[in-house]
Amino acid sequence: MVVVMQKGVSQEQINKVQKHLEAEGYSVHLSQGAKRTIMGVIGEPGKVDPQLLASLPGVEKVVPIMQPFKLASRDFKHQNTVIQVGSQTIGDGHVTLIAGPCAIEGRENFLKAALAVKDAGAEMLRGGAFKPRTSPYSFQGLGEKGLQIMAEARELTGLPLVTEVMDQKSIAMVAEYVDIIQVGARNMQNFFLLRELGQVNKPILLKRGMSATIEEWLMAAEYILGSGNPNVILCERGIRTFETYTRNTLDLSAVPLLKQLTHLPVIVDPSHGTGKRELVEPMSLAAAACGADGLMIEVHPNPSQAWSDGPQSLIPADFARLSKKVRQLESLAAPEAEDESRERS
Ligand code: PEP
Ligand code: MN
Repeated sequence: MVVVMQKGVSQEQINKVQKHLEAEGYSVHLSQGAKRTIMGVIGEPGKVDPQLLASLPGVEKVVPIMQPFKLASRDFKHQNTVIQVGSQTIGDGHVTLIAGPCAIEGRENFLKAALAVKDAGAEMLRGGAFKPRTSPYSFQGLGEKGLQIMAEARELTGLPLVTEVMDQKSIAMVAEYVDIIQVGARNMQNFFLLRELGQVNKPILLKRGMSATIEEWLMAAEYILGSGNPNVILCERGIRTFETYTRNTLDLSAVPLLKQLTHLPVIVDPSHGTGKRELVEPMSLAAAACGADGLMIEVHPNPSQAWSDGPQSLIPADFARLSKKVRQLESLAAPEAEDESRERS
């Protein structure tokens, strides 16, 4: 349930209600906005009488949350979560462009790619140092050396870094080098990893699992939020269907749907979502038009030579054209329009 406190409530009243709930065995997540204090109350229902709770000094109302996800729910937090990374933001109403190669293949190549994507309009830089490959014989990434190259690219370009972490033991190392930590599709339900990422002071980009429902995905986000990290970005990257012309089926309906269900930012990865370079621009524009908070796009200076995901990688010039078009489209999915439609429904 959610406890909404009255306007102008005192800190003492907030503490009293919180203590009361904690004494009953609930965990309380406070959201203190400029105008309102809201408590997300997590635990077995039925221990506290909601009417009694509503009568405590400073409480305005008690709202049950029917969905299984609580902290991720719009009922818990109405306002969009905006994630600040250095001078860049995700979730503030513009489409944040994250671009870079699938994997870091070497220093020279990556620095070249970093400069090229920055020039073409990228606001953040992606690259994999630990690669989850289907075959154990494929290139697995440069590991820490790759992270060092990324850090050098940030020095050079000023772009914040996004990279994937694959296991708990690498979290501290990855967190030391990059600005946003990615959980890949294959790890979306690695609950131990998610719990530990809840303890990290960096935003987490949580990709949708290949066969995950939207509810399962939000429950995965809930693991991170519930362990103490409020900065989760959801990334739609396509799901497995019977279709074989595309690598995955990009589920763009998830974007406006998630905007109703959750306050978390939602971005789209049309590269893994389609697996085909020629589909990346049209699906990026579609994602921007339906309200995505960002796009994550694979760009390689020479895709035919890429060590992974060449067929879905754009050349920098194509990415430059895409980013220009996205900027033109952005205004169509302004946040005001979303707010109105939510109120109507
Ligand atoms: C990636 O973004 O590098 C990646 C491996 O994507 P996914 O986890 O969506 O397959
Ligand atoms: Mn890739």
